[in-house]
Amino acid sequence: MILQTIQQHYPAALPSSIFAAKSLALVKEKYGLPPEQILLANSMCSDDVNNIEYPQEARAMLGPFNLGGLNGYPFTGITGMAAFAKHVPDEGAAMVFFAPHIGISEDGSVGKILRVGQHNTSSCCGAMVLALSRLQDGTIYQPNNAKNPLDYQQQTLEEIVVQEKEAILTAVNPIKEATEKVYEATANTINALVKNTVFTGKYIIVMGAIIINSDRQHGSFLALRKFDVLDANTKALLGSYTL
Ligand SMILES: [Zn+2]
Repeated sequence: MILQTIQQHYPAALPSSIFAAKSLALVKEKYGLPPEQILLANSMCSDDVNNIEYPQEARAMLGPFNLGGLNGYPFTGITGMAAFAKHVPDEGAAMVFFAPHIGISEDGSVGKILRVGQHNTSSCCGAMVLALSRLQDGTIYQPNNAKNPLDYQQQTLEEIVVQEKEAILTAVNPIKEATEKVYEATANTINALVKNTVFTGKYIIVMGAIIINSDRQHGSFLALRKFDVLDANTKALLGSYTL
């Protein structure tokens, strides 16, 4: 039932544990790599719900190294990616997983979930909902202004959002559209970071998805957008996959 609700918005969405198990099975089958030979970097939102609803299957990998901050944008930048890339097992792979998140509650409300120990729903992704409300009321961060060191990540997200103002404000579902725009910006940054970083190990697995969190009793879901395996040395694309 909840899966149907989620798939109305994200047809490719799978429960997170199934997504993780299928991904790991594919990497083992195609490349002979067990999870303990894979070092994971996650670029996902700091939100505690992403840990509460994190799939157990993914914990079989080494790591994670956390690249993300608010809504999964890779705020650790080139220094973070370089540090991570030096830690990959010699005969193994780096997995770079990036995914903004969005809440969908049981009643189908987008941008909201019911959290553990609470009676009322709250926004998810909170940072994205805040950026959207500021875009709608005209108080969003303007890119030419100096960034506030106490709110650097939120202002960076707002900088991405404000540049897509037309598409977001005219969309049927603005919070979903804003999430798509952050996905695209994150994908571009991840690509640039991977391209400009030297990795140990044999392979680089780059996975992009949208995390759909739901109410506490339902856990989370993942809609795959990108699943590429590269040669760690040459960065040549060895294969692109779906689940
Ligand atoms: Zn968030």
